[in-house]
Amino acid sequence: MLLEVRELQVEFRTQDGVAHAVNGVSYEVDAGETLAVLGESGSGKSVTAQAVMGILDMPPGRITGGQILFQGQDLLKLREEERRKIRGAGMAMIFQDALSALNPVISVGDQLGEMFVVHRGMSARDARAKAVELMERVRIPAAAQRVRDYPHQFSGGMRQRIMIAMALALEPALIIADEPTTALDVTVQAQVMDLLAELQREYHMGLILITHDLGVVADVADRIAVMYAGKIVESAPVRDIYKAPAHPYTRGLLDSIPRLDQKGQELYAIKGLPPNLMDIPPGCSFHPRCPMAQDVCRTDEPPLYEVSDVRGSACHFWRECLNG
Ligand code: SF4
Ligand code: MG
Repeated sequence: MLLEVRELQVEFRTQDGVAHAVNGVSYEVDAGETLAVLGESGSGKSVTAQAVMGILDMPPGRITGGQILFQGQDLLKLREEERRKIRGAGMAMIFQDALSALNPVISVGDQLGEMFVVHRGMSARDARAKAVELMERVRIPAAAQRVRDYPHQFSGGMRQRIMIAMALALEPALIIADEPTTALDVTVQAQVMDLLAELQREYHMGLILITHDLGVVADVADRIAVMYAGKIVESAPVRDIYKAPAHPYTRGLLDSIPRLDQKGQELYAIKGLPPNLMDIPPGCSFHPRCPMAQDVCRTDEPPLYEVSDVRGSACHFWRECLNG
């Protein structure tokens, strides 16, 4: 297994109290596999990824439990220096906002090239050639000329391609993409997502795709982990989820995807808001918003029930949900 996250716990200490951002999350990603991690903002999906990348464990965020095994190595036991090496060459992250992730005063060619100078000891000239090659790889037109341009001279979609190129540069085993297309308009979104999926197959990388939009993952993900209030509430192969969700929250997310045949109708939205992470409701944390909630849901926290060999649901009434 490429990556195994086991029972991860993360909290944030704030002036108002302790926010329980990640509460016992376990997931796995194999080489060549795409895991979509889905949830509303505040569900813990980004925080979990930041813990995996090793860019979280500093105040006020703190990992308070669990393990992160990458190629069999427990990352939480490594020194920062060893961690940094893995972050450079073993795993890479793509963020939503390329403009703030790229350096505005350095040309994209120099930013890409620097990866090869620093990590591979290449000459500036060879690094520049590699930069052009990468830009061509992510299909930036006229790469040989545009390599001298600065980030603001590219469109949003092209900038996101440059981010993908940066992430791919050292051919990492794992890429984490956090809402990589959220800031783009719909047609560009699809192009960037297709490119990412294509490169992932070609390089046989593991890919964690973090998104709040179930609509964008159908074609690219192998598995989906749905997060709510810092926990995984459903985990399943993508096909199973689309066929029939085994958790009311997943059902709500599916029902909120805009569909062409529903033009003019009001879009379904899950009622209410995600909980305050300093004060997570007892029992099932989703119960205040759940259309299927019963008394037991307010008192007994559901474990991740085994729905099948490859599927889990943290709902007492997963059977009813599947059949509903
Ligand atoms: Fe809804 Fe109860 Fe299932 Fe929670 S356990 S999702 S409240 S039915
Ligand atoms: Mg986020």
